Amino acid sequence: MEKKLKAYFVDGDWDRGTGFAVIAHSAKEAKKMMYGREGLDMNDWIELHVKWIRDAIVDGCHHGQTFESESEMLDAMYRGMYGPTEHMKCPNCGTDDVYVQEIYDGVFGCSACEDELTKEDINNPYKKKASEVA
Ligand SMILES: [Zn+2]
Repeated sequence: MEKKLKAYFVDGDWDRGTGFAVIAHSAKEAKKMMYGREGLDMNDWIELHVKWIRDAIVDGCHHGQTFESESEMLDAMYRGMYGPTEHMKCPNCGTDDVYVQEIYDGVFGCSACEDELTKEDINNPYKKKASEVA
């Protein structure tokens, strides 16, 4: 039987929350996969922290998948693996280099979009529009 895939957040600097999500079978394996990875602040084995992202949507993810490019990071935000992220392109209005966060339940955008989006404008591929839930 296939072991269940889980999403882990591997972080070199626990306080700042900078790190990457990775798909693995265990925390130990996730840590091994990300050890020495460019972009992590700390690459000491001891300093590397791993946290299981319990509520992440892992459907369609593959073993060893990481979320490092901007499009991958946005995908990870939709999947509930990343919190608000700076220096992103807004998935709603397309403005570059903005702070992107969840502005409604399952809806992501920049602060300028926050007032304009409605529940019907859901841009998250993993969430259903209110009209589809019925
Ligand atoms: Zn926007």
